[in-house]
Amino acid sequence: TNGAKKAPNPSPLRNSKFFQSNMRILITGGAGFIGSHLVDRLMENEKNEVIVADNYFTGSKDNLSKWIGHPRFELIRHDVTEPLLIEVDRIYHLACPASPIFYKYNPVKTIKTNVIGTLNMLGLAKRVGARILLTSTSEVYGDPLEHPQKEEYWGNVNPIGVRSCYDEGKRVAETLMFDYHRQHGIEIRIARIFNTYGPRMNIDDGRVVSNFIAQALRGEPLTVQLPGTQTRSFCYVSDMVDGLIRLMEGENTGPINIGNPGEFTMMELAQTVKELIDPKVTIKEVENTPDDPRQRKPDITKAKELLGWEPKVTLRQGLPLMEEDFRRRLGVPKDA
Ligand code: NAD
Ligand code: UDP
Ligand code: UDP
Repeated sequence: TNGAKKAPNPSPLRNSKFFQSNMRILITGGAGFIGSHLVDRLMENEKNEVIVADNYFTGSKDNLSKWIGHPRFELIRHDVTEPLLIEVDRIYHLACPASPIFYKYNPVKTIKTNVIGTLNMLGLAKRVGARILLTSTSEVYGDPLEHPQKEEYWGNVNPIGVRSCYDEGKRVAETLMFDYHRQHGIEIRIARIFNTYGPRMNIDDGRVVSNFIAQALRGEPLTVQLPGTQTRSFCYVSDMVDGLIRLMEGENTGPINIGNPGEFTMMELAQTVKELIDPKVTIKEVENTPDDPRQRKPDITKAKELLGWEPKVTLRQGLPLMEEDFRRRLGVPKDA
C-alpha cells in the first residue's frame, strides 16, 4: 500500500517452511498493564516465543511472574531509547507510561520514549524484516471537535501543553511508522487505543477507574475532577488484547480505533462505582488539570468492518472483575 517498497528479508531460514508457523514476538512495555495481559494471551499459543523488553518505570515483574523461567519466555531489562539487537518476527511496541501522572513526571523522558524508542523499534523491524504494531492513543485527537472520533479526524492538540509530551509524542511515533512504511517497506500496524481498564492496573496509577475503585475500597471519597460532565469510553482489557492481536495478524495498517463506544461522564462513573462497591462512600469534586479533553468516544466502524472486532465486556461487567483483583491486592475481602 501507499507505493511502499518491499521489506528486505535478511533471515531466510526463519521464513522457510520449517519455521513458518513459529513466531518470535517482542513486546516492549510487556511488564505493564496491557502488555502483561497481551503476554498471557500470546503465551497460550505453543508456537509463540515471547520476549518482553521493559525498563520497569511503571511496569513490574510481578505482572509476569507466572512466565518467568518458562522455556518460551524471556524478560529483558531494557530501555527502548537505547538500541536493541535481537531477531524477532513481530514487535508489539507498547513501551511508554500511559497514566497522566507518570507521563508528566519526566516529560522529556516521555518524548524520548515515544520518539527515539519508536525509531529504534522501527530500525529493528527494518533490520530483521519484522512486522511492528504501535499502541497509539485516542489522545492524538486532543480535545476533539468531532464526536465520536473517526480515524480520519486530525485532532485538536495543544503542541506546548503539559500533555503534549504524550499526545504529540504519539503523533510523531505514528508519523515515523508511516515514513518507515513508505520509505523502507516496513509492515506496520497502528492501534489508537481508548481508555482501557482491568485487573493489574497499578493501584496508584492515577487513572480514573483505578482511582475510584481503590478509593471506594479504602472508604475514601471518590475524587471527581471538575466539571464532572467530561466523558470517556472504557474498554475492558481482554477485549483490548483481542483487538490488538487481530490488528497485528490482519491485512490493514490502520490507524484503527480500538475501544468501547459506551460513553460515560466522570460523575456517572463515580455513581456506578459507588453503587457497585459501597453506597456509603461520598463523592468529592476536585480541581482538574489543564487541557483535559471534554469528551471522548471511539467510532469503531473500521474495527468492526476490517477486523471483525467489537468489545464484548460492558462497564458493569468489567468493574466487578477489577474490584475482585483490587480487593485481593489491597487486602479488603468482600464482606469485611
Ligand atoms: P503501563 O504504564 O502499565 O505500561 C507501560 C509499560 O512500558 C510499563 O511496563 C513501563 O515500565 C514500560 N516503559 C515505559 N517507558 C519505557 C522505556 N523507555 N523503555 C522500556 N519500557 C518502558 O501502561 P498501559 O496502560 O499498559 O499502556 C500500554 C500502551 O498502551 C502505552 O503505549 C500506552 O500509551 C498505550 N495506551 C494505553 C491506554 C490505556 O488506557 N491503558 C490508552 C491509550 C494508549
Ligand atoms: N536499531 C536498533 N536495533 C536494530 C537496528 C537499528 O535498535 O536492530 C536502531 C538504531 O540504533 C538506530 C534506529 O534503530 O538508532 C534507526 O535505525 P535505522 O537503520 O533505520 O537508521 P540509522 O541507523 O541509519 O540511523
Ligand atoms: N479523573 C477524575 N478523577 C480522578 C482521575 C481522573 O475525575 O481521580 C477524570 C479526568 O479529569 C479525566 C478522566 O477522569 O476527565 C479520565 O482521566 P484519566 O487520567 O483516567 O485518563 P485520560 O483519558 O485523561 O488519559
